[in-house]
Amino acid sequence: MQIKRLIGINGGTFDPIHFGHLRPALEVVHALHLDEMRFIPAYQPVHRASPTVSAQQRCEMVQLAIQNQPHFKLDTIELDLGGASYTVNTLEALKQSEPDATLVLMMGTDAFAKFNQWHDWQGILNLANIVVIHRPGEPVPREGEVGKIFVDHWVPTLTEEFGQIVDLPVTQLDLSATALRSYLKNGDPVDYLMPESVARYIYEHQLYQ
Ligand code: ATP
Repeated sequence: MQIKRLIGINGGTFDPIHFGHLRPALEVVHALHLDEMRFIPAYQPVHRASPTVSAQQRCEMVQLAIQNQPHFKLDTIELDLGGASYTVNTLEALKQSEPDATLVLMMGTDAFAKFNQWHDWQGILNLANIVVIHRPGEPVPREGEVGKIFVDHWVPTLTEEFGQIVDLPVTQLDLSATALRSYLKNGDPVDYLMPESVARYIYEHQLYQ
């Protein structure tokens, strides 16, 4: 593969962002030698109910969380595109603005487990490579439709600009935004689970109460 700029794509609802999003993203940057990792909050996620917190506020929390990490960038492309946030459309738009970059879409094993149901997943693999990161309690699928996609596209190391899948056993953090929303609702502490700046923002704006 000709060495091109490698851009990681970390999409999600980030409702709210937590260390389970951040630490694995950093490990992906280092393991795959990415030039940058874009955090792309979904405007209107298509595979789940709409978040209660606005896209604008979810972006502000991401910005606070990543501000001291030079490889991390907030990208509001899905807000700019508006409507339902389909990953294939996001990747197409990114490819237009970054024609010389190789895109590496990052997702946890939980998200990849349903990848065969994503809108135009073949289109996604025609635009990007995928790094599947291990998430506690969610094994890498090796059977069924999604297992076949994994096995057919898996490589030990990325060598092409798109169409390849690698997996990465990052530090396992058994955290989810769902658990954090529940702690916040109950008034339980969220220290050491998310950046302090994000927790402060949540309290100041009285979110998730
Ligand atoms: P929720 O609990 O609301 O479903 P979440 O914490 O799973 O949210 P999302 O923003 O929906 O987070 O997920 C975005 C991406 O981050 C997905 O690819 C998901 O697999 C990954 N991810 C989230 N939490 C972790 C974690 N603790 N470890 C590894 N990956 C994670």
